[in-house]
Amino acid sequence: MGLVPVSDLLKAADAGGYAVGAFNCNNMEIVQAIAAAAEAERAPVIMQASQGAIKYAGIEYITAMAKTAASLVNVPVALHLDHGTSFEQVMQCIRAGFSSVMIDGSKHSLEDNIALTKQVVAAARPVGVSVEAELGKIGGTEDDIHVNEADAFFTDPEEARVFVRETGVDALAVAIGTAHGRYKGEPKLDFARLEKIRSLVNIPIVLHGSSGVPGDAIREAIRLGVRKVNIDTNIREAFVDRCREIIAAYPDEIDPRKILGPAREAAVELIREKIRLFGSSGKA
Ligand SMILES: [Zn+2]
Repeated sequence: MGLVPVSDLLKAADAGGYAVGAFNCNNMEIVQAIAAAAEAERAPVIMQASQGAIKYAGIEYITAMAKTAASLVNVPVALHLDHGTSFEQVMQCIRAGFSSVMIDGSKHSLEDNIALTKQVVAAARPVGVSVEAELGKIGGTEDDIHVNEADAFFTDPEEARVFVRETGVDALAVAIGTAHGRYKGEPKLDFARLEKIRSLVNIPIVLHGSSGVPGDAIREAIRLGVRKVNIDTNIREAFVDRCREIIAAYPDEIDPRKILGPAREAAVELIREKIRLFGSSGKA
């Protein structure tokens, strides 16, 4: 199969009351792990690339790997730009073959965020690429983007209504208490706010910074309208922890395949668990 737009996957998720996992990929092993996990679970899946992933692997490699992965499995796969920062970058990704983009204008004023997002929707929609935007400010650090606690703020439901109406985005990332990176304590999600937002916008909601959020909270968020759940940190942990174990156990090992192969397996297991938690297992 070729790459499919995220909006197609989220529409089906909306009808079925589940969420699609969006897993960040930075290298070949993680791309393969995401595809293998989705295939094993018979689940639709989203591969996403952040600024850091594009910088690290190169946009051509990321796109070629995702396309290859999609062509080798019998489940729908989307390739999504995570936290796109400019119109120019979004255009580069669309041209390279991404099937979905996020434009993150959350650092701008509401007015400027609306203007930027509208511009992206106008360019993406005619070529069949779906658009995710962000309103409110999600805290934490993801690659080059850092938002400290004082600057993070929750999404205002009324602003969300206006934002979605004005921009026509396909999906909305909201700030309701999650953060990027590792949590210090247990995150507390503002479910009342989520419910209110969803009642006013009626489009799929995206939860960022979902690694480390307890399973029950994820399930409740999905019940209230979250249809895309982003996971990056947990994959990094599973992958690198396994690398460390192998290197500690076999300090003389010099074959990268004997280190990265098991790490890939660890990522597959982690991603399969997440897919089952999100309820998308068997939905492809
Ligand atoms: Zn994010």
